[in-house]
Amino acid sequence: MDKRDYYEVLGVSRNATKDEIKKAYRKKALEYHPDKNPGDKKAEEKFKESAEAYEVLSNDEKRSRYDRFGHAGMSGAAGGFSGGGMTMEDIFSSFGDIFGDAFGGFGGFGGSRRSSRRVNKGTNLRVKVKLTLNEIAGGTEKKIKVTKYDTCTTCDGTGAADSDSMSNCTTCRGSGHVTRVTNTMLGQMQTTSVCPSCGGEGKIITKKCTACYGEGVVQKEDVIKINIPAGVAKGMQMTVSGKGNAPRRGGVNGDLLVVIDEEDHPELIREGNNLIYNLFISIPDAVLGTHVEVPTVDNNVKIKIDPGTQPGKILRLRGKGLPEVNGYGRGDLLVNVNVWMPKNLTREEAKIIEKFRESGSFTPRPDKNDKGFFDRMRGYFE
Ligand SMILES: [Zn+2]
Ligand SMILES: [Zn+2]
Repeated sequence: MDKRDYYEVLGVSRNATKDEIKKAYRKKALEYHPDKNPGDKKAEEKFKESAEAYEVLSNDEKRSRYDRFGHAGMSGAAGGFSGGGMTMEDIFSSFGDIFGDAFGGFGGFGGSRRSSRRVNKGTNLRVKVKLTLNEIAGGTEKKIKVTKYDTCTTCDGTGAADSDSMSNCTTCRGSGHVTRVTNTMLGQMQTTSVCPSCGGEGKIITKKCTACYGEGVVQKEDVIKINIPAGVAKGMQMTVSGKGNAPRRGGVNGDLLVVIDEEDHPELIREGNNLIYNLFISIPDAVLGTHVEVPTVDNNVKIKIDPGTQPGKILRLRGKGLPEVNGYGRGDLLVNVNVWMPKNLTREEAKIIEKFRESGSFTPRPDKNDKGFFDRMRGYFE
């Protein structure tokens, strides 16, 4: 694979100043930081690539050699690890301080990889989104208005008025922590604690940014577009990474947590991915058969009611339920057929019904094999 031009990697011009190069690298490193892109090989490659570019361009000697000979001038460079062989440990141990106060505990605490890779992360935002069954059935895009902390654009999140108004903390010499050695019966004991002067940031701001009062963040209203997949259910939570609050003085944004809520459908009841519709038909329709319309999450569908349909019959409309979230297949629409019994009849209507009573076909002839009632009773047993 051909190496990309180092200037191009960092997105700076060939006559960029050291400060510009440092700033550009810091930005790339934060963007592709492994804590922000867990398991993302591509991001890791970019993270390494920009570290390699910075390793060369931040060193006057190496930079001038690269300017004259390009990548060819870099192979076998003394004291360097350019050539694409930079490991993550190399990058963290060499450029730890570039991240500045964006990362806690760099280069300290025994240099453990875990602690040296910890990123200052903003807090998560949590919002609730109420969806209709129709929106759940098809998946939907929602625009959510949130008030959140955003990185201050005036100071680029540093909290300082300019690059001269930030200096290394003299108490901890920029490390963010102080080590105390005490003599005990068991010998010397070393304790490390957060630097009291700078609060662990390693830097002291002498002149604060006026836009954010030194916080590095400002409150902002933001409209966030989120795509909600089909089939979600009440209580599910979606994570939109990086859309939460920005942390104080640089680092990685928190996440936006979207909690799903459901609006009741006027006619359909949800049961997992299946939908239930409680249908009522008249006595003549149950006896003579008919066609009726039932609602679904898409549109109404016509179904046939066979002559002589008994109340309590359940008609299954395959695939007319809700889709499986992040999967295949759909639930069914179950139509529970009820027969509506009128209570108040006119004298004339009552006469007609009397006639039914006398006619032979209206005498019950139960089907002994129909165990449908058993399922309907199940709810009483639990
Ligand atoms: Zn600011
Ligand atoms: Zn300090």
